[in-house]
Amino acid sequence: MIVSLGFIILAGRPISADNMTNPVSEDAGWIRVSDGNISVYTQGDPAQAVPLIATFSQLRSALAQTGVFHVDESATLKVIAFHYEKEFNQYRLNLGACAFFQQTRRGEYVVLQDLEPSHRNVSAHEFTHFLLAHVGVTLPLWLNEGLADFYSTFEIAQDISGDKVTFGRPVVGRQAILRSYPWLPLDNLFRISTSSSYYSEPEQMALFYSESC
Ligand SMILES: [Zn+2]
Repeated sequence: MIVSLGFIILAGRPISADNMTNPVSEDAGWIRVSDGNISVYTQGDPAQAVPLIATFSQLRSALAQTGVFHVDESATLKVIAFHYEKEFNQYRLNLGACAFFQQTRRGEYVVLQDLEPSHRNVSAHEFTHFLLAHVGVTLPLWLNEGLADFYSTFEIAQDISGDKVTFGRPVVGRQAILRSYPWLPLDNLFRISTSSSYYSEPEQMALFYSESC
């Protein structure tokens, strides 16, 4: 999911686009983990932020090598990762999304419900939105979400010839959705916008995302 919000709220205080450069207070129990370009602010286990940053770095490097679109490997990103679902729920955009990407004049942010390794694909999905938006790639909504899903399942394996990257493995649950529900006509799919219920209601979202990828 990609959104453009004016502000979010962390630790009970409003964080506007003007003061998001330092959104985390140590008093509130937030910890920052950074590799320089990617900073993760989390209430959770900071050790879980390290593999997240590694995943983002690997995906960024792999996409840069594909040449499918320009990737700015020096772009900076702030990741806000909650620890408890009930805390994220205060800022959740809708019941169907447990993460979102936000672009502001002062910076770019990925907001995550948590740092659970099982949510790695969701994080990579949002990171793909960041990479595309940062270089100004504008796509129809279905294609933007479809590409984010397509790259979200990337895998890197090593063999004697070096690293081998695989993109496009099925997202868990998508095929089951497509087998269970009648598909949207393509004309309808192509017209879905961010104001559509297919972008906010969980069941409809599941069909929209499944068909898009
Ligand atoms: Zn998305």
